[in-house]
Amino acid sequence: MEVLVIGSGAREHALVRALLDDPGVDRVVAAPGNAGIALVAPVEPVDATDPEAVAALATRLGADLVVVGPEAPLVAGVADAVRAAGVPVFGPSAEAARLEGSKAFAKDVMAAAGVPTAMAHLCTTEEEVAAALDAFGAPHVVKDDGLAAGKGVVVTSDREAALAHARACLAHGPVVVEEFLDGPEVSVFCLTDGTSVVALAPAQDFKRALDGDEGPNTGGMGAYSPLPWAPAGLAEEVVERVARPVVVEMARRGTPFSGVLYCGLALTSRGTRVIEFNARFGDPETQVVLARLATPLSTVLTACATGTLDTQPDLRWREEAAVTVVLAAPGYPEAPVTGGTLRGLEAAEAVGGAAVLHAGTSPAPDGSGIVSSGGRVLSVVGTGADLHAARASAYEAVELLDLDGGRFRRDIALAAANGAVAEVRA
Ligand code: AMP
Repeated sequence: MEVLVIGSGAREHALVRALLDDPGVDRVVAAPGNAGIALVAPVEPVDATDPEAVAALATRLGADLVVVGPEAPLVAGVADAVRAAGVPVFGPSAEAARLEGSKAFAKDVMAAAGVPTAMAHLCTTEEEVAAALDAFGAPHVVKDDGLAAGKGVVVTSDREAALAHARACLAHGPVVVEEFLDGPEVSVFCLTDGTSVVALAPAQDFKRALDGDEGPNTGGMGAYSPLPWAPAGLAEEVVERVARPVVVEMARRGTPFSGVLYCGLALTSRGTRVIEFNARFGDPETQVVLARLATPLSTVLTACATGTLDTQPDLRWREEAAVTVVLAAPGYPEAPVTGGTLRGLEAAEAVGGAAVLHAGTSPAPDGSGIVSSGGRVLSVVGTGADLHAARASAYEAVELLDLDGGRFRRDIALAAANGAVAEVRA
């Protein structure tokens, strides 16, 4: 079969790699891809957020499956256009992707489905925000209602900073003020065809820019899986108490959700609570989860796209751990400096158990090598018998990379490898 992967990040590089490893897949094409994906698969220049352009490409290629990586194409209706062109697509409709596109919509669906989440107020004025902040107390949680690539949320004990963020968000739309959820965070990807649901292995990501969970929130600086400290049966609990009720509710509303329901959870002292939903695979958690998946990826994605997930055998997993470390451009996340030359790629790739996945990379304008072209530049994945071994591979490889001013966290999966709960707080 032929698979078209839409997107250009390390998540898409991970999807492309997993599909190329899949004996059932003959050809993988990425659009628009990036410099690293182009080394392993044909790439097609396309505006990933243009539904008609993506549908036309899928038809021209004769693709048997389209996998949509990022949120923006989903919200723009790319999955709808591809489906309308008669090509199976892994990814929800624009209507269903509102679970990610609007936090207020997600809250409404959760309330209807009885899914445990933080109490929240949707506010449209500064006065409402102030009242909600005081009602919930510190620490304050203020969220932009729309898509903000993981950067629209401020968690702070500083009431003035919370108000300032709310003011900035109110300039273009409503804001959500929430109660603070304590406890470690976990990401569980639940795959669904609109009826059946199956969870992938839980992972944890590191959102803050600097070691020790300091610095600003980012799209994600690293991740690991499995979570040795997580309660047994967590994935099953998330399917039964979160994902399945949401899938049932979305179907009831006439807007069935298919694809991946990314459940961002806090394991609080009062039980598991949903922090957020995303309508697509998370980046960087996908890099570590797919590194551990032994079931051929195309079979499960196709089953989701064609409504046959109930006929699939249970997923199989490698008895291995995976850790990914993100190499970011100087200035990320506030003002990433791009155009820096990347060196050491071959040496890093030669490290046993390591894979270098590209995110913000481009061919150098003079054709000599690869330069950075985004905030998160590379995602280096290490696999090994346990988290220590996986960390060793990932860090050996990332140390061999050379990008002027490039930064990475040194503590990804460190606490978990040492037997502690890596308690990631925003
Ligand atoms: P979101 O975009 O909703 O995932 O929020 C980004 C990050 O902010 C989450 O991963 C959490 O670390 C943090 N966060 C969001 N909502 C809450 C909450 N209610 N309590 C504590 N932390 C939160």
